[in-house]
Amino acid sequence: MNRNQVLPQVELSNDPKALSRIDFCAPQSYQGAGFLETSVLPRVAEEASSVETGDGFHWELKTHFADSPGSEPRQILELAVKGHIHLVCQSCLQDCGLDLAQESRFVMVATEEEADAFPMEDDQHEPLVASQHFDLLGLIEDEILLSIPLIPKHLESACQPHASSFSDVGEAADASEKPQNPFNILKNMKKN
Ligand SMILES: [Zn+2]
Repeated sequence: MNRNQVLPQVELSNDPKALSRIDFCAPQSYQGAGFLETSVLPRVAEEASSVETGDGFHWELKTHFADSPGSEPRQILELAVKGHIHLVCQSCLQDCGLDLAQESRFVMVATEEEADAFPMEDDQHEPLVASQHFDLLGLIEDEILLSIPLIPKHLESACQPHASSFSDVGEAADASEKPQNPFNILKNMKKN
């Protein structure tokens, strides 16, 4: 029997308080979407060079249960974030509005031990430890932070670099612009 057909599907609200305590231990799946202004995302606001009207992120989440050999069916989360932020352009050091997007899949596991033992070669799913008060808002924020380029820059046509040495820094960084595996960054963030 397909577990997803018998479990209730709960619609998530966009309320930041509610999003910061979602019960991922309950036998139910979730779906929801909304728009969060930068002002309710303190760690994102900290990264922003300025916050202008309309700055913020759409989020979309859908979960389902998947059979897992040797254990209870596990809840799979598919989370997408997409939005607009202002950062300091590293070529011209002026404000720079950027569109960002990130899509990730996660698998809910019961314990930290299970998360640590999760096969590293499974780069499709990042394990998360389920709880009755899971901070989904924090996860959305993590995803937005991961989508921020290491070296934010205007599109070439929109950038007006000063005749200073800063443009050299920007140029040299091009080769390494591809960020490292975001899951590793996330892991490190969580250990702190
Ligand atoms: Zn620029």
